[in-house]
Amino acid sequence: MKDKYDLIIIGSGVLGTFHAYHALLNGMSVAILEKNGKPEGATVRNFGQVVPSGMDRKWQNFGKESLNIYKNIQSQFDINLRQNGTIYLASNEEEMQLIEELHQINMSNDYMSTLLTKEQCLVKYDGLRADYCKGGLFFPQEVTVEPNTMIHKLHEFMILNLGLDLYTNTSVVNTENNVGEVVAITSTGITYKASKIIICNGSDFKILYPEIYNNSDLIVSKLQMLQTKPQQNNYKLNGSILTGLTIRRYESFEECPSYQSIKAKENPKSFEKKYGVHILFKQAMDGSVILGDSHEYASAKEIDSLGFDLNMDIDNFMIEEAKKIIDLPNYEIQKRWFGMYSQCKNKDIFEYTVDQNIHIITGIGGKGMTGSAGFAKYNIAKIFNT
Ligand SMILES: Cc1cc2nc3c(=O)[nH]c(=O)nc-3n(C[C@H](O)[C@H](O)[C@H](O)COP(=O)(O)OP(=O)(O)OC[C@H]3O[C@@H](n4cnc5c(N)ncnc54)[C@H](O)[C@@H]3O)c2cc1C
Repeated sequence: MKDKYDLIIIGSGVLGTFHAYHALLNGMSVAILEKNGKPEGATVRNFGQVVPSGMDRKWQNFGKESLNIYKNIQSQFDINLRQNGTIYLASNEEEMQLIEELHQINMSNDYMSTLLTKEQCLVKYDGLRADYCKGGLFFPQEVTVEPNTMIHKLHEFMILNLGLDLYTNTSVVNTENNVGEVVAITSTGITYKASKIIICNGSDFKILYPEIYNNSDLIVSKLQMLQTKPQQNNYKLNGSILTGLTIRRYESFEECPSYQSIKAKENPKSFEKKYGVHILFKQAMDGSVILGDSHEYASAKEIDSLGFDLNMDIDNFMIEEAKKIIDLPNYEIQKRWFGMYSQCKNKDIFEYTVDQNIHIITGIGGKGMTGSAGFAKYNIAKIFNT
């Protein structure tokens, strides 16, 4: 342990890790303190889809920057990045209208996308059902990562190549400003000193500064996920597959001229609305397919009301809907889990300055794997005035 770091990050999820990454690139000494033996939050429970195409304008720009950052790291060190693109599959005329409008918006926005016919989609995606797909919008430059391994590989890269100090099983229970320095105090009484601290605690609102979160507009979303057994016969489903309900949900589509009128026709009482279900597919490196997801919400204060169990009605609904979209050779489920992320009701991220050298950054919502790398670059420059 150094006597004093330029920066301490609390929380080793993707948001904290990319803040550390950019500080290290700026020549700072950096330590990350993580309460668990390894990250167990949203960063390892997600799809690993890096999809700037789904974000609003501001976060699409951070996402584009993230694509460059991920690709640059991958060129130096294997973090299991794959560039297989993202497809949005339309299932009816309304969704076709939305993908055509998004395509036009992207052209004026200098973000490359290609409209694919139904036939082109059927050739490109093995098992895609002809009675579901009407056409697709493809983003060739987008990538996927393996959520359960990427963060560990990124840490390894940063420790070996950039001089990161990573302390796991290190639960920070307090931070204080002493004259000329800030300190992070752990549950075992060890203190780590730094010039600045950034807290990236994800959806953990009970240890540090609970009163700040309880009085904020932070909410937590609980998402259910499934993973099939590895598919047989070398079955390939490349890239991120997003479908009709995603077209009706993701922020980028809100800019489309027809969006509001199409949304207004939806049944507010449907099962998918009640549980925020949309269907996404991503094949993991072992050949299995990750499927999801749903959204249930609670305020930061009432996070426990979301429960620790899985709602099988949601799981069964997601499997039945997925079967209507892609005939996977094997729908046998090997894993089920949920993940939680935090987000703000009224802002796109939660930023709070406890004092001039202690900052809280959380609430990045469902865009953390896509936006963190680009956002953290901008935020480190902002916090350090560089
Ligand atoms: C099911 C699911 C699917 C998703 N799919 C995608 C996707 O495909 N693409 C995408 O862009 N985004 C996706 N997301 C969103 C993305 O995963 C999150 O935005 C992102 O992981 C949040 O990262 P984080 O670092 O803020 O939080 P976390 O990953 O939760 O990390 C916070 C870390 O802080 C640590 N910590 C907290 N308090 C302390 C303390 N006091 N002391 C020490 N350590 C502490 C925790 O242990 C944890 O490791 C998904 C999320 C979920 C849940």
